[in-house]
Amino acid sequence: MDGTGKFVIPGLWDMHYHFESDPGSREFNLLVANGVLGVRNMGGAAKEVFRAREQIASGLVLGPQIVACGPIVDGPNPTNPPISVSVHDPQDARRTVQSLKAMGADCVKVHDGVPLDAYLAIADEVKKVRLPLVGHVPVRVPTMRATKSGQRSIEHQIGFRGASTVEAEVMESEKTNDVFAEAMRTKNFRLIPESIAKKGNYILDHFSDQRAHELYRAFARNGTLLVPTLVTDRALTFVDEISRQDDPRLKYIPAAQREWWNPERGMLTRYRTPAYIAFRMRQFEKTLQQIPVAHRAGVRFLAGTDTSLPFVYPGFSVHAGLTPLEALQTATINPAKFLGLEQSMGTVQPGRLASLVLLDADPLKDIHNTTKIFAVIIRGKLLSRSDLDGMLKVAETAARK
Ligand SMILES: [Zn+2]
Ligand SMILES: [Zn+2]
Repeated sequence: MDGTGKFVIPGLWDMHYHFESDPGSREFNLLVANGVLGVRNMGGAAKEVFRAREQIASGLVLGPQIVACGPIVDGPNPTNPPISVSVHDPQDARRTVQSLKAMGADCVKVHDGVPLDAYLAIADEVKKVRLPLVGHVPVRVPTMRATKSGQRSIEHQIGFRGASTVEAEVMESEKTNDVFAEAMRTKNFRLIPESIAKKGNYILDHFSDQRAHELYRAFARNGTLLVPTLVTDRALTFVDEISRQDDPRLKYIPAAQREWWNPERGMLTRYRTPAYIAFRMRQFEKTLQQIPVAHRAGVRFLAGTDTSLPFVYPGFSVHAGLTPLEALQTATINPAKFLGLEQSMGTVQPGRLASLVLLDADPLKDIHNTTKIFAVIIRGKLLSRSDLDGMLKVAETAARK
C-alpha cells in the first residue's frame, strides 16, 4: 500500500491488562482499533483467556496476540479470591507453579500475600518449567530479594519501599498489624486506606536517593523491568476530577462497569479518607519524578495500563508515558525483548511479522500522535480507518447490551 506522508510504528503492547471474565469482540475491537496488537493478561479468568489466545492465534477471531498469566498466586488470604490460588508453604508453591504450567500459563503472577519461603520456592520452580516470574513484590519479600531471585517484572510501582531506609521495619510491623482482618471484623473499611496512607507516607519520608540508586542498578543488572501502570495510578489519584468529565470513550464501557467506576461506589474509592487522597497525590508526584532517574540508571520500562480499573479504557489508555521515543519503546521493542519475541516483532524491518500501525503524524514529535491512526496491519491483514471505525461501532453496541 502507498504510505506516503504516513508514519509506521510496530504494533503496540499493553503489558498489564485484565480481560473481563469472558473476553470478546468489545475488548478485542477496542484494542486493535487503537493499534494495541499485543496484550499481557496479568491474571484473571484463566480458561476463557487461554481459549481466546488460541482462537486469535489460529486466525479464528480477530484480536491482539495474548500472553496470559492464569490465576494469580497469592498467600493464605488472597486479595482477589475468585481469580487467585493460595500458597501456604514451599511445597504448595512448587505444586502451584507446576499446575500453572500444565494449564498453559505463559507467566506466573505473584501478589501481596505470598510468604517469603513460598516465594523463594516459586522463584526456583519457575526456572525449571521456564516461566517468567512477574507481579507484585509481596509484603513479606524485600524488594532487593525479589530482583535477585529473578523476578522479571514489577508492577504498579518503582520500588519506594525498597528505596527507603525503613523497609525492614515496615515489613516487620506488617506481621503483627493485620488491618485488613480488623477492617472486616469491625466493618470499618476506612481503616484500610488510612493504614495505606500512614505506611506509604512513612516510606516516602524515609526515601533515600542512595538506596534508590542501588535498587535501580540492581533492576537493570538483573533484568527486572518496571511496569508502573501510570494511567491507573493517575486515574485513582485524580478520580474525583476525572469522574466528572464527560469522556467520549465512556460509550465503549458497559453500564455495570461504569457504575463501579463511580468513586462513591467503587471498592477502591468509596472508603478513601482525606489523608489517603493526599498521600496518593504525593506518591504520584514522586513516581513521575523518579521514573527518569530510574531510566538514567539503566532501568527498562514496559507500558501497562491495568485495564479495567476505573477510567482506564481498553486500548485507548496505553498512549501515555516518557519522552516520545522511550514511551514508544515501552510498548514495542521492550515487550518484544521481554517476551523473547524480538525476532518476529517489536521493530519495523523485513522478515518480521506484519503487525504495524500507520499514523497520520510523527509520534517522535508528540507521543499523542500514536492516537492518530490511519490504518492497522495485524498479522498481514490490512484494516483501514473505516474498518477500524466499524470495529469501534461494534464495541459501542456491545457495551450497551
Ligand atoms: Zn496487580
Ligand atoms: Zn493488575
